[in-house]
Formats: sequence, C-alpha cells, structure tokens
Amino acid sequence: MSAVSRKRWYAGLTDVGRVRTHNEDAVLLEPPLFAVADGLGGHEAGEVASSVALGALVEAAPRRPDAKALGRAVRAANRAVISAAREGLGRNGMGTTVTAALVEGTRIAIAHVGDSRAYLLHGDGLERLTEDHSLVADMIRSGTITEEQSRTHPNRSVITRALGTDPNMYPDTFEVEAGIGDRLLLCSDGLTGMLPDARIEEILDSYRDPEMAVRMLVDAANEAGGHDNISVAVVDIVTGQHRSPATERPGRGWLSALVWVFAVVAVLGIAVWGTYRYAYDRAYLVTEDQYVVIYRGIPGDFAGLRLRWLEAETTVTASALDPVTAQRLATGVPVESVDAAFELIELYRAHLETQGVDPNAGPPPAETGTP
Ligand code: MG
Repeated sequence: MSAVSRKRWYAGLTDVGRVRTHNEDAVLLEPPLFAVADGLGGHEAGEVASSVALGALVEAAPRRPDAKALGRAVRAANRAVISAAREGLGRNGMGTTVTAALVEGTRIAIAHVGDSRAYLLHGDGLERLTEDHSLVADMIRSGTITEEQSRTHPNRSVITRALGTDPNMYPDTFEVEAGIGDRLLLCSDGLTGMLPDARIEEILDSYRDPEMAVRMLVDAANEAGGHDNISVAVVDIVTGQHRSPATERPGRGWLSALVWVFAVVAVLGIAVWGTYRYAYDRAYLVTEDQYVVIYRGIPGDFAGLRLRWLEAETTVTASALDPVTAQRLATGVPVESVDAAFELIELYRAHLETQGVDPNAGPPPAETGTP
C-alpha cells in the first residue's frame, strides 16, 4: 500500500489489491488538482500509461476550476500517452482512464474518461458525478443488465473510452457547485467493482478524517476480495482563505494624504512580497551539466529580479529521457511546488526503470572519437 496523503483536507491512497501482482493505477494529489488514473495494457505498460497521463495532466492543467481548460489538459495527457507508446515507453495499445477534478472553494471542475469515477457526498447522500465509459455501463443504460449484475459481468472491465489510442478522444467535462462540508471522492473501478455505493457512502460518512476515509475504503475493497488495483482520493470541500479588504477611512487634508502615501507604500510592498511569495512557493526542473536539477522559484528574470534558489541536484540524466521531455528540461519545466518537482523526478525515474535504464547511471561516457 503506498500512501500519498498530505494535510488534512484531502488524502489519497493506491493499493495493488489482493489478486494483481502490479499496481497500474496512479493517484495525483496536487491541489487544486486531484486525479486518479487506471492504466491498462499489462506487462507494466499500464503503469507507464497512468503515470505519463498524470504527469502530463499536472503540467497542462489550469489553475482555476475551468472544465473546458481541464478537458484540454486531459487531451494533452492523451497525446502524451500516445507519443510515449510511439517512442517505446510502455508499449502500443497501452491506455489509461483519467478522472480529474480541480477544486477551488466550493467550485469543482471535472474531466473524465473511462470507468474511474467521481462522487460527491453531500447532505442528500452520495451522488455519482461521472458516467462510466464502459460496456457494462452502456448495458445498464439500455436496461440489459442491472448495476448489481454489472459487478460480476465477464466484460465488466471493457472500457469504451480511454487515453492512449484515439488522438481525437474527448473527455466528459463539467462543473459542479458543492457545499461547504461536502466531500469529493475520486476512485478507480477497483473500489466500485468491490463495494456498492451504499457501502462507500457509509464509510465516507463514518470517517471524517480524509486519511482515515481513504484507508477504510481501500481496506473494505480488499476485504471484499481486492480483485483489482484500488485507488481513492478524498477531498473535503472547505472554506478558502478569504482576506477581507481593509476598511480604513482616510481623514481630511494632510492626514488623508499621509494615509494615502502609506497605502501606496503598503500596496507596493504587498505586490513585491506577493511576487516573492508566489515564486517561493513554485518550482521548476531544468537540465544542468546533463543532470536534472530542481529550483525553487520561477525560471528567467522578473523585473530584473532572479527569483530562484537551488533546491536539489538529482542523478537523473536528461538525455536518457524521451526527446520531448529532454528538450523541455533544457529550458525549464515549471511545476506547482517543490513537492511536485520531487514527484516528477520520481516519475522520470519510474519511466527510466520501465525502460531498463538505471536512473542513477549518470551521463553516458563522453565520445572519444575512436570508432
Ligand atoms: Mg481497474
């Protein structure tokens, strides 16, 4: 079981289950962006597909809950999976589901492909937000089988839409207005194939700590058989940090002017401090002397200021990665946070390992010119 939880208003967990030998699922917790991906393709290709998809998604995703923009990011992720297969990463025919949510306050944007799901727990119960793109879902919709029968149907894992094959693939996209105290659940079919919605609702209701909730969901799916990889992300809808504007009233004459001078100085100070804070919270990866290094800050100059600080040097060699990534790393790949940068490094390492390349091997020996 690999826990990937942070803080208290969201948590995620992915688990191999009790039958499979590999975990082809992936979970992304990169607030405001959350996603689950269920890779398919076997022979470890599914793992590549789901991690490539989420890596591309986090790079292309908007910062606001804009469903159309999030949909475009999922399409970028689709192209990334297709080109990864073409470049020999994973293999042809590998694919993945993606259910992605961008959460800001009570606003949620969803983009979705495949049979992973998004649910919203609110006062009226557990509402399924997404429609599965699967054969059994089509059969339920047409009345051929029931929800219960779909759980044991021999073709229950056949999905009708996925990332990785069709360059013209479109995700379902929409926006939802949640309420404070609601709870968003993203999950792979390893959860929903094992547990009925009523049981999922019961667990989400009983464990208010997101970290506990994800553990209990995974445990329950395993107790029910754990036939597939199980991935869950739980995001509590909480109030944002709203700062109320100052309500100071300027006085008359020189006092008023003085207040204004202070106000202007304060605004400038806040702007500089804000920019600094913004840069300090962000990070980017760039190639230096063939190795990928992590900087806190933003690449380039900002109003003559260099807002970057070396965070870590890694042993990942850029030239061993696929050419597109290597090219992007030459100029810098910006990410949300230092944590996200380290996660991307882990993704790169995982990709290299699946290719049989030792990620710590360092740069190839220099050309000597001898034939
Ligand atoms: Mg699955």
